[in-house]
Amino acid sequence: MKINEIKTIGIIGSGTMGRGIAISCSVSGFKTIVYDINDEVIKKAENAVLKDLSKSVEKKKLTEEIKSAAISNLKYTSEMNDVSECEFIIEAAPEDISLKKEIFEKLDRICGHETILSTNTSSLSVTRISVFVKNNPERVVGMHFFNPANIMKLTEIIKGDFTSEETVKTTSELSIKMAKVPVIAKDTPAFIVNRIARPFYGESLKILSEGTSGHTTIDKVMKSCGGFPMGPFELMDLIGIDINFSVTKSVYESFFNDPKYRPSFIQKKMVDANITGRKTNRGFYSYDGSKK
Ligand code: NAD
Repeated sequence: MKINEIKTIGIIGSGTMGRGIAISCSVSGFKTIVYDINDEVIKKAENAVLKDLSKSVEKKKLTEEIKSAAISNLKYTSEMNDVSECEFIIEAAPEDISLKKEIFEKLDRICGHETILSTNTSSLSVTRISVFVKNNPERVVGMHFFNPANIMKLTEIIKGDFTSEETVKTTSELSIKMAKVPVIAKDTPAFIVNRIARPFYGESLKILSEGTSGHTTIDKVMKSCGGFPMGPFELMDLIGIDINFSVTKSVYESFFNDPKYRPSFIQKKMVDANITGRKTNRGFYSYDGSKK
């Protein structure tokens, strides 16, 4: 598939990442079909995308014309077959290999055999995902956006062991059309950014669990003295504590339980209690006006 053949992009999953990716695609002039598992979830995503686009106009980051064009480019569905005519797919469902298997097997059945099937996985092997695609696995690639996906410039393009050069080239060109900066990475656990970021979260959680300091102090130190735009706990709340925990578990397992990447019981306890950060209004901080 060549870049000029790509007119319509299908997005699988309309959560934190799917929404931002949908904005990036639609604002860049692509017809964009966003799929999620039921009408309630997809309606919520549509409202969130509309709100985000309006906020960007208020902040003068987008014009009213671009916003209207983006809205007319977007379609929302709870029928996965609706993405079957897309030339490019971006999968942004939860970080769970059995779920990705189900999705990629279905995409293989319903989409054309030249359609590029990309995954936004943070840590799972792209090669492993490509094995779920029987027809032309050379078109399976990692296209890893960063949160918020409509704002962050970087995309990691992950070349799995079977990914063709043409797929990598087209995916990189698509990133550029979406005003992103692509970097190409080999398929190793967590690629570049998330690998480097693991100790950032891991050590912060250890410091917290050892009682050395509280999360607000750790965030303050990293921002005011370390020059980071966000502290590790603010960032985990933004990413989603469930997603961050899944990524850490996956990296830990991929490196054969290397203790360097061991997940924290703090995250497990929070995930078990559905305290997952901004998306549930409660994480290390609270987002509904109440004090945690
Ligand atoms: P999320 O939990 O916010 O959203 C996931 C969405 O997928 C939900 O709307 C859910 O209803 C939907 N979903 C569940 N099962 C599905 C299915 N079978 N088919 C289609 N959709 C389904 O998750 P997220 O944070 O958007 O993460 C999605 C992917 O992006 C993960 O692989 C994650 O590792 C990766 N990622 C996340 C971040 C981040 O900061 N959150 C950054 C980069 C990459």
